[in-house]
Amino acid sequence: MMDDCIFCKIIAGEIPGNKVYEDDHWFAFRDIEPCAPTHVLLVPKKHVANILALDDESAKDFADFFQVVQKIARQEGLEESGFRVVINTGEKAGQSVFHFHAHILGGREMGWPPFPEDK
Ligand code: AMP
Repeated sequence: MMDDCIFCKIIAGEIPGNKVYEDDHWFAFRDIEPCAPTHVLLVPKKHVANILALDDESAKDFADFFQVVQKIARQEGLEESGFRVVINTGEKAGQSVFHFHAHILGGREMGWPPFPEDK
């Protein structure tokens, strides 16, 4: 638990979060400003700032990352619509909370490439 980390506080139940999934080392809750009908944030219970902060020890907890994403996608009924997983890493890439989180987005049409303004 990191003091003044908003996601650590949500995991600890110190501030409210709309939980959708929990197991020994993962926690998932709804994004407060959803970008899609389903917008879930999947976070490790142990504080890790982002992908670049992973070390050998903390990376072990990520072994089942895709299986947990799969469980949440099934639970949210996203198999048919498909879904997108986004992991912003670093301020310049749009990361605003420095506790690793994967955005699981689904239930709407999503364009590709992700930066239509670059076209
Ligand atoms: P990022 O910009 O990738 O770091 O994503 C941070 C996400 O956390 C944003 O989509 C915010 O809407 C979301 N967020 C921030 N505070 C909360 C909160 N208290 N509960 C749920 N989601 C939050």
